[in-house]
Amino acid sequence: MKVLVPVKRVLDYNIKARPKADASGVELAGLKMSMNPFDEIAMEAAIRFKEGGQASEVIAVSCGPQANQETLRTALALGADRAVLVETEVELQPLAVAKLLKALVAREQPGLVICGKQAIDDDANQTGQMLSALLGWSQATFASRIELGEGTALVTREIDGGLETLSIRLPAVVSTDLRLNEPRYATLPNIMKAKKKPLETLTPESLGVDIAPRLTLLKVAEPPARQGGIKVDDVAQLLDKLKNEAKVI
Ligand code: AMP
Repeated sequence: MKVLVPVKRVLDYNIKARPKADASGVELAGLKMSMNPFDEIAMEAAIRFKEGGQASEVIAVSCGPQANQETLRTALALGADRAVLVETEVELQPLAVAKLLKALVAREQPGLVICGKQAIDDDANQTGQMLSALLGWSQATFASRIELGEGTALVTREIDGGLETLSIRLPAVVSTDLRLNEPRYATLPNIMKAKKKPLETLTPESLGVDIAPRLTLLKVAEPPARQGGIKVDDVAQLLDKLKNEAKVI
């Protein structure tokens, strides 16, 4: 069974996102970009299936500009067998990515797509769900455990206040949560080997997919600065302030 892992190139999670001066988006110029952390977890899950003999091939896919090749090389260094870049300069929204992934699924025929539960830049949490709907496949989101069976998978999901275990039929789309695994680091020899692994470049046009944005981004702004708090001396003072200043009791 082939496993497809979509990986997104995002602003590194250690870098504080700031709006561009004209509020038209998030400033990315000159800043470190990395693989979306949830996609590293997805890649790790796929590689473990390959190592365990449950997957035959792991294919990493990224949609976006040419610079995404760097993210795909990281995926190859982590253990993906080959990579596909769907190259475009158009700003991609989740529906467009889901349509591109659907076209790649038709080409590659994987038995499982493991994606991140959300990209930490747009926080959309939509692509996996849209993909499974477009394909008519089973889906299990926020996975903290995936156990593959014969044509089925048991997926434990992180839900409010607990865990839920689903049995789903394959093929399926599963999205990863933080506790699924701890991704490995790429070793230097594997980074060198990754340079020789196949990385194919396609375009949305060659896949026959319309990626025109459906939503218009109006502006990106910092949240209002929080006012500093104060320390009260005792409970009596707290009650007095809540009653007479905040007027909430
Ligand atoms: P989102 O719906 O944008 O929060 O993204 C959820 C997941 O979809 C990510 O963790 C990735 O696995 C995948 N994804 C989103 N955008 C892209 C992209 N441009 N290229 C490849 N995978 C993507």
